[in-house]
Amino acid sequence: MADVETYLKGLKETIIRRDPNQTEFQEAVFAVLDSLKPVLEKHPEYVKTNVLGSLVEPERVIQFRVPWQDDEGNYQVNRGFRVQFNSAIGPYKGGLRLHPSVNLSIVKFLGFEQILKNSLTGLPIGGGKGGSDFNPKGKSDLEIMRFCQSFMTELQKYIGPDMDVPAGDIGVGGREIGYLYGQYKRLNGSQRGILTGKGLEYGGSLARTEATGFGLIYYLDALVKGKNDSLKDKIVKISGAGNVAIYALKKAQEDGAKVVTVSDSNGYVYDPNGIDLETVKQIKEVERGRIKEYADRISTAKYFEGSVWDLDIKYDIALPCATQNEIDEEQAQLIVKSGVKYVAEGANMPSTSKAIAVYKANKVIYGPAKAANAGGVAVSALEMSQNSERLSWTFEDVDDQLQAIMKNIYDISEAANKEYDLGDDLQAGANIAGFEKVAKAMLAQGIV
Ligand code: NDP
Repeated sequence: MADVETYLKGLKETIIRRDPNQTEFQEAVFAVLDSLKPVLEKHPEYVKTNVLGSLVEPERVIQFRVPWQDDEGNYQVNRGFRVQFNSAIGPYKGGLRLHPSVNLSIVKFLGFEQILKNSLTGLPIGGGKGGSDFNPKGKSDLEIMRFCQSFMTELQKYIGPDMDVPAGDIGVGGREIGYLYGQYKRLNGSQRGILTGKGLEYGGSLARTEATGFGLIYYLDALVKGKNDSLKDKIVKISGAGNVAIYALKKAQEDGAKVVTVSDSNGYVYDPNGIDLETVKQIKEVERGRIKEYADRISTAKYFEGSVWDLDIKYDIALPCATQNEIDEEQAQLIVKSGVKYVAEGANMPSTSKAIAVYKANKVIYGPAKAANAGGVAVSALEMSQNSERLSWTFEDVDDQLQAIMKNIYDISEAANKEYDLGDDLQAGANIAGFEKVAKAMLAQGIV
Protein backbone atom coordinates (compact mmCIF):
# COMPACT_ATOMS: atom_id res chain seq x y z
CA MET A 1 0.00 0.00 0.00
CA ALA A 2 1.29 3.45 -0.89
CA ASP A 3 2.27 5.77 1.95
CA VAL A 4 -0.05 8.74 2.49
CA GLU A 5 2.24 11.29 0.86
CA THR A 6 2.66 9.19 -2.31
CA TYR A 7 -1.05 8.37 -2.41
CA LEU A 8 -2.10 12.04 -2.23
CA LYS A 9 0.49 13.06 -4.81
CA GLY A 10 -0.81 10.42 -7.20
CA LEU A 11 -4.38 11.51 -6.65
CA LYS A 12 -3.55 15.14 -7.37
CA GLU A 13 -1.70 14.15 -10.55
CA THR A 14 -4.72 12.18 -11.75
CA ILE A 15 -7.02 15.14 -11.12
CA ILE A 16 -4.74 17.50 -13.06
CA ARG A 17 -4.29 15.02 -15.91
CA ARG A 18 -8.03 14.44 -16.24
CA ASP A 19 -9.12 18.07 -16.09
CA PRO A 20 -6.07 20.29 -16.53
CA ASN A 21 -8.12 23.47 -16.99
CA GLN A 22 -10.40 23.09 -13.98
CA THR A 23 -8.37 25.34 -11.70
CA GLU A 24 -11.16 26.26 -9.25
CA PHE A 25 -11.99 22.58 -8.82
CA GLN A 26 -8.36 21.68 -8.29
CA GLU A 27 -7.89 24.43 -5.72
CA ALA A 28 -10.91 23.31 -3.68
CA VAL A 29 -10.00 19.62 -3.80
CA PHE A 30 -6.30 20.06 -3.05
CA ALA A 31 -7.06 22.18 0.04
CA VAL A 32 -9.24 19.35 1.36
CA LEU A 33 -6.76 16.60 0.46
CA ASP A 34 -3.95 18.42 2.27
CA SER A 35 -5.97 18.72 5.46
CA LEU A 36 -6.98 15.04 5.41
CA LYS A 37 -3.41 13.82 5.75
CA PRO A 38 -3.59 13.08 9.49
CA VAL A 39 -6.87 11.20 8.99
CA LEU A 40 -5.36 8.98 6.30
CA GLU A 41 -2.37 8.29 8.52
CA LYS A 42 -4.65 7.19 11.35
CA HIS A 43 -7.05 5.26 9.10
CA PRO A 44 -5.15 3.26 6.47
CA GLU A 45 -8.46 1.75 5.30
CA TYR A 46 -9.25 5.06 3.55
CA VAL A 47 -6.07 4.74 1.48
CA LYS A 48 -6.51 1.02 0.89
CA THR A 49 -10.06 1.47 -0.43
CA ASN A 50 -9.16 4.63 -2.37
CA VAL A 51 -12.30 6.26 -1.02
CA LEU A 52 -10.85 9.66 -1.91
CA GLY A 53 -10.48 8.58 -5.53
CA SER A 54 -14.27 8.12 -5.58
CA LEU A 55 -14.97 11.25 -3.57
CA VAL A 56 -13.24 13.55 -6.08
CA GLU A 57 -15.06 12.06 -9.07
CA PRO A 58 -18.71 13.17 -9.50
CA GLU A 59 -21.24 10.37 -9.64
CA ARG A 60 -22.75 12.11 -12.65
CA VAL A 61 -22.20 15.30 -14.71
CA ILE A 62 -25.07 16.59 -16.81
CA GLN A 63 -24.48 19.34 -19.35
CA PHE A 64 -27.21 20.64 -21.59
CA ARG A 65 -28.27 23.30 -24.07
CA VAL A 66 -30.64 26.03 -22.87
CA PRO A 67 -32.25 27.79 -25.84
CA TRP A 68 -34.52 30.78 -25.15
CA GLN A 69 -35.85 33.86 -26.86
CA ASP A 70 -35.08 37.42 -25.74
CA ASP A 71 -37.54 40.33 -25.82
CA GLU A 72 -36.31 41.43 -29.26
CA GLY A 73 -37.15 38.01 -30.66
CA ASN A 74 -33.52 36.85 -30.96
CA TYR A 75 -32.72 33.19 -30.31
CA GLN A 76 -30.20 32.83 -27.48
CA VAL A 77 -28.38 29.72 -26.36
CA ASN A 78 -26.78 29.15 -22.96
CA ARG A 79 -25.11 26.18 -21.36
CA GLY A 80 -26.72 24.43 -18.38
CA PHE A 81 -25.04 22.16 -15.81
CA ARG A 82 -25.97 19.84 -12.98
CA VAL A 83 -23.20 17.99 -11.20
CA GLN A 84 -24.57 15.18 -9.02
CA PHE A 85 -21.46 14.73 -6.98
CA ASN A 86 -22.10 12.39 -4.08
CA SER A 87 -25.23 10.69 -2.71
CA ALA A 88 -23.64 8.61 0.05
CA ILE A 89 -25.60 10.26 2.85
CA GLY A 90 -28.72 11.51 1.04
CA PRO A 91 -30.20 12.98 -2.16
CA TYR A 92 -27.97 15.42 -4.04
CA LYS A 93 -28.51 18.91 -2.65
CA GLY A 94 -26.98 22.20 -3.71
CA GLY A 95 -27.84 25.42 -5.49
CA LEU A 96 -28.19 26.60 -9.06
CA ARG A 97 -26.03 29.58 -10.04
CA LEU A 98 -26.81 31.93 -12.94
CA HIS A 99 -23.75 34.00 -13.77
CA PRO A 100 -21.63 34.49 -16.93
CA SER A 101 -18.61 33.00 -15.14
CA VAL A 102 -20.30 29.61 -14.63
CA ASN A 103 -18.42 26.71 -16.20
CA LEU A 104 -17.83 23.07 -15.32
CA SER A 105 -14.82 23.84 -13.11
CA ILE A 106 -16.82 26.25 -10.96
CA VAL A 107 -19.82 23.94 -10.71
CA LYS A 108 -17.55 21.04 -9.75
CA PHE A 109 -15.68 23.07 -7.13
CA LEU A 110 -18.99 24.15 -5.60
CA GLY A 111 -20.42 20.63 -5.77
CA PHE A 112 -17.36 19.15 -4.12
CA GLU A 113 -17.46 21.67 -1.27
CA GLN A 114 -21.17 20.98 -0.94
CA ILE A 115 -20.56 17.31 -0.10
CA LEU A 116 -18.59 18.15 3.03
CA LYS A 117 -20.74 21.15 3.93
CA ASN A 118 -23.92 19.09 3.78
CA SER A 119 -22.28 16.38 5.83
CA LEU A 120 -21.37 18.94 8.51
CA THR A 121 -25.02 19.95 8.94
CA GLY A 122 -25.73 16.47 10.34
CA LEU A 123 -28.74 16.20 8.00
CA PRO A 124 -29.22 13.44 5.39
CA ILE A 125 -28.21 15.34 2.24
CA GLY A 126 -25.65 14.52 -0.43
CA GLY A 127 -23.73 17.03 -2.55
CA GLY A 128 -24.59 18.59 -5.91
CA LYS A 129 -24.48 21.92 -7.72
CA GLY A 130 -25.67 23.38 -11.01
CA GLY A 131 -26.29 26.49 -13.00
CA SER A 132 -25.74 28.24 -16.27
CA ASP A 133 -23.56 30.90 -17.88
CA PHE A 134 -26.75 32.92 -18.44
CA ASN A 135 -26.40 36.51 -17.18
CA PRO A 136 -29.59 37.58 -15.40
CA LYS A 137 -28.41 41.19 -15.06
CA GLY A 138 -30.48 43.62 -17.10
CA LYS A 139 -32.94 40.95 -18.26
CA SER A 140 -36.68 41.54 -18.10
CA ASP A 141 -38.93 39.37 -15.94
CA LEU A 142 -40.24 37.66 -19.07
CA GLU A 143 -36.73 36.89 -20.31
CA ILE A 144 -35.87 35.40 -16.91
CA MET A 145 -39.06 33.33 -17.06
CA ARG A 146 -38.39 32.03 -20.56
CA PHE A 147 -34.84 31.11 -19.60
CA CYS A 148 -35.93 29.34 -16.39
CA GLN A 149 -38.64 27.40 -18.23
CA SER A 150 -36.18 26.22 -20.86
CA PHE A 151 -33.58 25.32 -18.21
CA MET A 152 -36.09 23.28 -16.21
CA THR A 153 -37.48 21.55 -19.30
CA GLU A 154 -34.18 19.71 -19.49
CA LEU A 155 -33.22 19.58 -15.80
CA GLN A 156 -36.52 17.99 -14.73
CA LYS A 157 -35.42 14.68 -16.25
CA TYR A 158 -32.72 14.34 -13.63
CA ILE A 159 -34.15 15.65 -10.34
CA GLY A 160 -36.72 14.46 -7.80
CA PRO A 161 -37.48 14.67 -4.06
CA ASP A 162 -35.51 11.50 -3.26
CA MET A 163 -32.93 12.00 -6.00
CA ASP A 164 -31.76 15.61 -6.35
CA VAL A 165 -33.26 18.78 -4.88
CA PRO A 166 -31.65 21.99 -6.21
CA ALA A 167 -31.92 25.42 -4.57
CA GLY A 168 -30.87 29.01 -5.32
CA ASP A 169 -27.40 30.52 -5.42
CA ILE A 170 -25.93 33.62 -7.07
CA GLY A 171 -28.51 34.98 -9.54
CA VAL A 172 -31.22 32.55 -8.39
CA GLY A 173 -33.58 33.99 -5.80
CA GLY A 174 -37.29 33.66 -5.10
CA ARG A 175 -38.37 34.84 -8.55
CA GLU A 176 -36.25 32.30 -10.40
CA ILE A 177 -37.17 29.43 -8.05
CA GLY A 178 -40.84 30.26 -8.68
CA TYR A 179 -40.44 30.07 -12.47
CA LEU A 180 -38.39 26.88 -12.24
CA TYR A 181 -40.89 25.24 -9.89
CA GLY A 182 -43.86 26.26 -12.05
CA GLN A 183 -42.31 24.66 -15.10
CA TYR A 184 -41.44 21.46 -13.22
CA LYS A 185 -45.03 21.18 -11.99
CA ARG A 186 -46.41 21.79 -15.45
CA LEU A 187 -44.27 19.08 -17.00
CA ASN A 188 -44.73 16.53 -14.23
CA GLY A 189 -48.24 17.30 -13.04
CA SER A 190 -47.23 16.91 -9.44
CA GLN A 191 -46.69 19.08 -6.39
CA ARG A 192 -43.42 17.75 -5.06
CA GLY A 193 -40.60 19.24 -3.08
CA ILE A 194 -38.12 19.24 -5.96
CA LEU A 195 -36.65 22.66 -5.20
CA THR A 196 -35.97 24.54 -1.97
CA GLY A 197 -36.10 28.27 -1.45
CA LYS A 198 -39.70 28.20 -2.64
CA GLY A 199 -42.17 30.97 -1.82
CA LEU A 200 -44.00 30.62 1.49
CA GLU A 201 -47.29 30.32 -0.40
CA TYR A 202 -46.23 27.12 -2.16
CA GLY A 203 -44.12 25.00 0.17
CA GLY A 204 -41.25 27.24 1.17
CA SER A 205 -39.83 27.32 4.68
CA LEU A 206 -39.89 30.27 7.02
CA ALA A 207 -36.34 31.47 7.75
CA ARG A 208 -34.90 30.08 4.49
CA THR A 209 -34.29 33.61 3.15
CA GLU A 210 -32.42 34.55 6.32
CA ALA A 211 -30.73 31.18 6.82
CA THR A 212 -27.27 31.61 5.30
CA GLY A 213 -26.64 35.09 6.69
CA PHE A 214 -28.11 34.30 10.12
CA GLY A 215 -26.30 30.95 10.17
CA LEU A 216 -23.00 32.71 9.44
CA ILE A 217 -23.46 34.90 12.50
CA TYR A 218 -24.56 31.95 14.69
CA TYR A 219 -21.37 30.14 13.67
CA LEU A 220 -19.29 33.29 14.25
CA ASP A 221 -20.90 33.74 17.63
CA ALA A 222 -19.91 30.20 18.64
CA LEU A 223 -16.42 30.85 17.35
CA VAL A 224 -15.86 34.11 19.23
CA LYS A 225 -17.38 32.64 22.40
CA GLY A 226 -14.90 29.79 22.02
CA LYS A 227 -12.24 32.49 22.42
CA ASN A 228 -14.03 34.05 25.42
CA ASP A 229 -14.92 37.01 23.24
CA SER A 230 -18.22 38.49 21.99
CA LEU A 231 -19.65 40.26 18.94
CA LYS A 232 -20.74 43.28 20.92
CA ASP A 233 -19.22 46.54 19.60
CA LYS A 234 -17.02 44.72 17.09
CA ILE A 235 -16.39 46.64 13.84
CA VAL A 236 -17.25 44.42 10.87
CA LYS A 237 -16.64 44.62 7.12
CA ILE A 238 -19.11 42.73 4.93
CA SER A 239 -18.68 42.31 1.18
CA GLY A 240 -21.63 41.73 -1.15
CA ALA A 241 -25.14 43.08 -0.83
CA GLY A 242 -27.07 40.01 -1.85
CA ASN A 243 -29.01 37.45 0.12
CA VAL A 244 -26.16 36.29 2.35
CA ALA A 245 -24.74 39.77 3.01
CA ILE A 246 -28.09 41.34 3.90
CA TYR A 247 -29.05 38.78 6.54
CA ALA A 248 -25.54 38.58 7.96
CA LEU A 249 -25.75 42.36 8.33
CA LYS A 250 -29.12 42.10 10.09
CA LYS A 251 -28.06 39.43 12.60
CA ALA A 252 -24.65 40.99 13.27
CA GLN A 253 -26.38 44.26 14.13
CA GLU A 254 -28.86 42.45 16.39
CA ASP A 255 -25.86 40.97 18.21
CA GLY A 256 -24.43 44.45 18.82
CA ALA A 257 -21.73 44.56 16.14
CA LYS A 258 -21.22 47.60 13.91
CA VAL A 259 -21.09 46.71 10.20
CA VAL A 260 -19.45 49.52 8.22
CA THR A 261 -19.41 48.25 4.62
CA VAL A 262 -21.42 46.43 1.96
CA SER A 263 -20.50 46.06 -1.72
CA ASP A 264 -21.38 44.81 -5.18
CA SER A 265 -19.27 43.90 -8.19
CA ASN A 266 -18.73 47.58 -9.07
CA GLY A 267 -17.75 49.01 -5.71
CA TYR A 268 -18.54 49.42 -2.04
CA VAL A 269 -20.03 51.83 0.47
CA TYR A 270 -18.33 52.73 3.72
CA ASP A 271 -20.51 54.13 6.47
CA PRO A 272 -18.54 54.74 9.69
CA ASN A 273 -21.86 55.19 11.55
CA GLY A 274 -22.92 51.67 10.65
CA ILE A 275 -24.77 50.51 7.53
CA ASP A 276 -28.52 51.11 7.56
CA LEU A 277 -30.18 47.75 6.93
CA GLU A 278 -33.51 49.06 5.66
CA THR A 279 -31.84 51.26 3.03
CA VAL A 280 -29.80 48.31 1.71
CA LYS A 281 -32.91 46.10 1.62
CA GLN A 282 -34.89 48.77 -0.23
CA ILE A 283 -32.17 49.22 -2.87
CA LYS A 284 -31.30 45.54 -3.35
CA GLU A 285 -34.48 43.59 -2.60
CA VAL A 286 -37.19 46.01 -3.71
CA GLU A 287 -35.61 48.18 -6.42
CA ARG A 288 -32.94 45.67 -7.56
CA GLY A 289 -30.60 48.68 -7.81
CA ARG A 290 -26.85 49.18 -7.35
CA ILE A 291 -25.16 49.68 -3.99
CA LYS A 292 -23.79 53.05 -5.16
CA GLU A 293 -27.29 54.43 -4.57
CA TYR A 294 -26.83 53.90 -0.83
CA ALA A 295 -24.37 56.80 -0.69
CA ASP A 296 -26.89 59.05 -2.49
CA ARG A 297 -29.38 58.41 0.32
CA ILE A 298 -27.24 58.22 3.48
CA SER A 299 -25.16 61.35 4.09
CA THR A 300 -22.53 59.69 6.33
CA ALA A 301 -21.69 57.07 3.68
CA LYS A 302 -19.15 57.26 0.86
CA TYR A 303 -19.08 55.14 -2.30
CA PHE A 304 -15.81 53.85 -3.76
CA GLU A 305 -15.18 51.84 -6.88
CA GLY A 306 -13.16 48.63 -6.53
CA SER A 307 -12.85 46.00 -3.84
CA VAL A 308 -13.99 46.58 -0.27
CA TRP A 309 -10.94 44.61 0.91
CA ASP A 310 -8.70 47.44 -0.32
CA LEU A 311 -10.29 49.96 2.05
CA ASP A 312 -7.70 50.72 4.73
CA ILE A 313 -9.51 51.06 8.08
CA LYS A 314 -9.15 49.46 11.52
CA TYR A 315 -11.71 46.73 12.16
CA ASP A 316 -12.19 43.41 13.96
CA ILE A 317 -14.10 40.97 11.77
CA ALA A 318 -14.14 40.29 8.01
CA LEU A 319 -17.20 38.59 6.53
CA PRO A 320 -16.75 38.01 2.78
CA CYS A 321 -20.26 37.36 1.42
CA ALA A 322 -19.92 38.10 -2.32
CA THR A 323 -18.16 35.51 -4.46
CA GLN A 324 -15.22 33.14 -4.92
CA ASN A 325 -11.63 34.40 -4.84
CA GLU A 326 -12.58 37.94 -3.83
CA ILE A 327 -9.70 38.10 -1.29
CA ASP A 328 -6.20 37.52 -2.63
CA GLU A 329 -2.89 37.31 -0.78
CA GLU A 330 -2.28 41.08 -0.76
CA GLN A 331 -5.77 41.83 0.49
CA ALA A 332 -5.35 39.18 3.19
CA GLN A 333 -2.20 40.99 4.29
CA LEU A 334 -4.17 44.21 4.53
CA ILE A 335 -6.84 42.38 6.54
CA VAL A 336 -4.17 41.28 9.01
CA LYS A 337 -2.69 44.78 9.14
CA SER A 338 -6.13 46.23 9.88
CA GLY A 339 -6.24 44.34 13.17
CA VAL A 340 -8.80 41.72 12.13
CA LYS A 341 -9.12 38.84 14.59
CA TYR A 342 -11.74 36.72 12.82
CA VAL A 343 -12.59 35.92 9.20
CA ALA A 344 -15.78 33.93 8.60
CA GLU A 345 -16.84 33.14 5.04
CA GLY A 346 -20.44 33.71 3.93
CA ALA A 347 -19.55 33.26 0.26
CA ASN A 348 -18.14 30.04 -1.17
CA MET A 349 -14.32 30.05 -1.34
CA PRO A 350 -13.97 33.87 -1.17
CA SER A 351 -10.36 33.61 0.06
CA THR A 352 -7.68 32.22 -2.25
CA SER A 353 -5.46 29.50 -0.78
CA LYS A 354 -2.65 32.06 -0.48
CA ALA A 355 -4.97 34.40 1.43
CA ILE A 356 -5.86 31.58 3.83
CA ALA A 357 -2.18 30.91 4.39
CA VAL A 358 -1.75 34.58 5.38
CA TYR A 359 -4.60 34.34 7.93
CA LYS A 360 -3.12 31.20 9.44
CA ALA A 361 0.44 32.56 9.57
CA ASN A 362 -0.87 35.60 11.45
CA LYS A 363 -3.13 33.74 13.88
CA VAL A 364 -6.33 35.21 12.47
CA ILE A 365 -9.12 32.77 13.41
CA TYR A 366 -10.52 31.55 10.11
CA GLY A 367 -14.03 30.06 9.72
CA PRO A 368 -14.15 28.38 6.29
CA ALA A 369 -17.17 28.60 4.00
CA LYS A 370 -18.19 24.98 4.19
CA ALA A 371 -18.76 25.39 7.92
CA ALA A 372 -19.69 29.06 8.20
CA ASN A 373 -22.23 29.26 5.38
CA ALA A 374 -23.88 25.86 5.84
CA GLY A 375 -26.99 27.48 7.32
CA GLY A 376 -28.62 27.93 3.92
CA VAL A 377 -28.45 24.31 2.93
CA ALA A 378 -29.37 23.22 6.45
CA VAL A 379 -32.65 25.12 6.30
CA SER A 380 -33.15 23.83 2.76
CA ALA A 381 -33.01 20.33 4.22
CA LEU A 382 -35.53 21.42 6.86
CA GLU A 383 -37.72 22.67 3.99
CA MET A 384 -37.51 19.17 2.46
CA SER A 385 -38.62 17.66 5.77
CA GLN A 386 -41.58 20.04 5.98
CA ASN A 387 -42.57 19.23 2.38
CA SER A 388 -42.47 15.50 3.14
CA GLU A 389 -44.61 16.01 6.23
CA ARG A 390 -46.86 18.49 4.39
CA LEU A 391 -46.48 20.81 7.35
CA SER A 392 -45.05 24.29 7.89
CA TRP A 393 -42.99 24.94 10.97
CA THR A 394 -42.87 28.35 12.67
CA PHE A 395 -40.02 30.80 12.13
CA GLU A 396 -38.86 30.19 15.70
CA ASP A 397 -38.86 26.42 15.21
CA VAL A 398 -36.66 26.66 12.13
CA ASP A 399 -34.44 29.38 13.56
CA ASP A 400 -33.86 27.39 16.77
CA GLN A 401 -32.82 24.34 14.74
CA LEU A 402 -30.55 26.51 12.60
CA GLN A 403 -28.82 27.89 15.69
CA ALA A 404 -28.28 24.41 17.08
CA ILE A 405 -26.92 23.15 13.74
CA MET A 406 -24.43 26.02 13.38
CA LYS A 407 -23.20 25.65 16.95
CA ASN A 408 -22.80 21.91 16.37
CA ILE A 409 -20.77 22.54 13.20
CA TYR A 410 -18.37 24.65 15.23
CA ASP A 411 -18.26 22.05 18.00
CA ILE A 412 -17.53 19.07 15.73
CA SER A 413 -14.87 21.03 13.83
CA GLU A 414 -13.23 21.89 17.14
CA ALA A 415 -13.51 18.26 18.28
CA ALA A 416 -11.78 17.07 15.10
CA ASN A 417 -9.03 19.64 15.73
CA LYS A 418 -8.53 18.29 19.20
CA GLU A 419 -8.56 14.66 18.06
CA TYR A 420 -5.86 15.34 15.47
CA ASP A 421 -4.05 18.00 17.48
CA LEU A 422 -4.49 20.76 14.89
CA GLY A 423 -4.68 23.78 17.19
CA ASP A 424 -6.96 26.56 15.89
CA ASP A 425 -7.20 25.21 12.34
CA LEU A 426 -11.00 25.22 11.90
CA GLN A 427 -10.58 24.65 8.17
CA ALA A 428 -8.91 21.31 8.73
CA GLY A 429 -11.40 20.52 11.49
CA ALA A 430 -14.37 21.13 9.16
CA ASN A 431 -12.80 19.14 6.32
CA ILE A 432 -12.10 16.21 8.61
CA ALA A 433 -15.48 16.19 10.38
CA GLY A 434 -17.32 16.50 7.05
CA PHE A 435 -15.18 13.88 5.33
CA GLU A 436 -15.31 11.17 7.99
CA LYS A 437 -19.10 10.85 7.90
CA VAL A 438 -19.22 10.66 4.09
CA ALA A 439 -16.28 8.25 3.92
CA LYS A 440 -17.87 5.88 6.45
CA ALA A 441 -21.15 5.94 4.52
CA MET A 442 -19.34 5.29 1.23
CA LEU A 443 -17.39 2.36 2.63
CA ALA A 444 -20.50 0.89 4.26
CA GLN A 445 -22.24 0.90 0.88
CA GLY A 446 -19.45 -0.92 -0.96
CA ILE A 447 -17.75 0.05 -4.21
CA VAL A 448 -20.64 1.88 -5.92
P1 NDP B 1 -26.60 37.17 -4.54
O1 NDP B 1 -26.66 37.02 -6.01
O2 NDP B 1 -27.83 37.45 -3.76
O3 NDP B 1 -25.52 38.29 -4.15
C1 NDP B 1 -24.20 38.23 -4.54
C2 NDP B 1 -23.55 39.55 -4.14
O4 NDP B 1 -22.16 39.49 -4.40
C3 NDP B 1 -24.07 40.72 -4.93
O5 NDP B 1 -24.05 41.88 -4.15
C4 NDP B 1 -23.06 40.80 -6.08
O6 NDP B 1 -22.96 42.07 -6.69
C5 NDP B 1 -21.80 40.51 -5.33
N1 NDP B 1 -20.77 40.03 -6.26
C6 NDP B 1 -20.90 39.07 -7.21
N2 NDP B 1 -19.74 38.94 -7.90
C7 NDP B 1 -18.90 39.84 -7.34
C8 NDP B 1 -17.55 40.20 -7.61
N3 NDP B 1 -16.85 39.60 -8.59
N4 NDP B 1 -16.98 41.17 -6.85
C9 NDP B 1 -17.68 41.78 -5.85
N5 NDP B 1 -18.97 41.49 -5.58
C10 NDP B 1 -19.55 40.54 -6.30
O7 NDP B 1 -25.90 35.84 -4.01
P2 NDP B 1 -25.90 35.22 -2.55
O8 NDP B 1 -25.87 36.29 -1.54
O9 NDP B 1 -26.96 34.19 -2.49
O10 NDP B 1 -24.52 34.43 -2.57
C11 NDP B 1 -23.29 35.05 -2.22
C12 NDP B 1 -22.26 33.98 -1.98
O11 NDP B 1 -22.72 33.12 -0.92
C13 NDP B 1 -21.96 33.05 -3.15
O12 NDP B 1 -20.61 32.65 -3.08
C14 NDP B 1 -22.85 31.85 -2.86
O13 NDP B 1 -22.37 30.67 -3.48
C15 NDP B 1 -22.73 31.77 -1.36
N6 NDP B 1 -23.79 31.05 -0.68
C16 NDP B 1 -25.09 31.43 -0.80
C17 NDP B 1 -26.08 30.74 -0.13
C18 NDP B 1 -27.49 31.18 -0.13
O14 NDP B 1 -28.30 30.58 0.60
N7 NDP B 1 -27.86 32.21 -0.86
C19 NDP B 1 -25.77 29.51 0.64
C20 NDP B 1 -24.35 29.25 0.77
C21 NDP B 1 -23.43 29.98 0.09
P3 NDP B 1 -23.60 42.31 -8.16
O15 NDP B 1 -25.04 42.61 -7.91
O16 NDP B 1 -22.84 43.47 -8.69
O17 NDP B 1 -23.38 41.05 -8.96
